[in-house]
Amino acid sequence: MVWRPANALSFCTPEQRERYLVPVIRGARRDCYAVSEEGAGSDPQNQQTTATKAGGGWLLNGEKWFVTVGDHADFMIVLAAAGEDRAPTLFLVDKDTPGIAVKRTPRFMHTFVYEHPEFTFTDVYVPEQNLLGGLGRATTSPAPGSPRSAS
Ligand SMILES: Cc1cc2nc3c(=O)[nH]c(=O)nc-3n(C[C@H](O)[C@H](O)[C@H](O)COP(=O)(O)OP(=O)(O)OC[C@H]3O[C@@H](n4cnc5c(N)ncnc54)[C@H](O)[C@@H]3O)c2cc1C
Repeated sequence: MVWRPANALSFCTPEQRERYLVPVIRGARRDCYAVSEEGAGSDPQNQQTTATKAGGGWLLNGEKWFVTVGDHADFMIVLAAAGEDRAPTLFLVDKDTPGIAVKRTPRFMHTFVYEHPEFTFTDVYVPEQNLLGGLGRATTSPAPGSPRSAS
């Protein structure tokens, strides 16, 4: 069964589309999204995960939980507060990037075959071209010119 890609991947650049979205559609890759945190569930504005500029990219630090399919996916869509302005930003992060670790895999009262692990991110380097939708664009308002801004 081919997994349905996360809606956020509709904001991929053409280059990201080839590396992430198209392989998910083919069934060759699998995404998961890491947005929720201990103090940032219903209100993701409370993000404690940060992204700090480093060289040609960003360093992610923080913890995420309830990452559905996090045990099986090979890349993650991670929400972090980026830079001094804490701009809410999504990052495409390959799961084998150094600095990513599973903290815990809690048991759930359901029959879904995959898990919802908790992850820690310690100085996880993400190149600039892996920003999804652009800096500060992880909001409910679509970016001008984005696929979702036209209605
Ligand atoms: C099975 C499962 C899978 C999940 N998968 C993912 C995933 O893949 N990736 C991911 O990032 N997250 C995932 N989540 C996390 C999910 O998005 C959060 O659980 C959800 O956002 C609620 O956050 P919380 O659990 O911290 O509860 P809280 O935000 O702490 O809310 C607790 C209670 O307070 C209520 N509440 C909160 N704010 C208000 C308010 N302003 N007014 C009135 N009531 C309020 C809520 O309705 C709830 O009843 C998953 C959760 C579950 C259970």
